[in-house]
Amino acid sequence: MKTATLSYLDWIKHLPIHDSELAECTCLNCGSQGLHYQYFGIKNMDFGWKIVWCPQCNTGINISRTQLPKGETVLVDPIEQEHFSTQYKHLKLFS
Ligand SMILES: [Zn+2]
Repeated sequence: MKTATLSYLDWIKHLPIHDSELAECTCLNCGSQGLHYQYFGIKNMDFGWKIVWCPQCNTGINISRTQLPKGETVLVDPIEQEHFSTQYKHLKLFS
């Protein structure tokens, strides 16, 4: 495992600018291709947060302040956010 040597900044520098390229992006931790992402927000706010993770090794990052793109699926309902956290509680996220 290389996890210990990676940092939040390593991930930020590694990730593509456009979300559409995440599917082609490789994981910094395990090297497999194809990262997943999800936006979160608060009702009527333009800013929220986003997590990007590798579905193979469950490593990724939590980007705490990010602009929510139009047309993206954003989880704003606290119950849905809670549900997501429960479903993905095995993720190891840098923040
Ligand atoms: Zn990985």
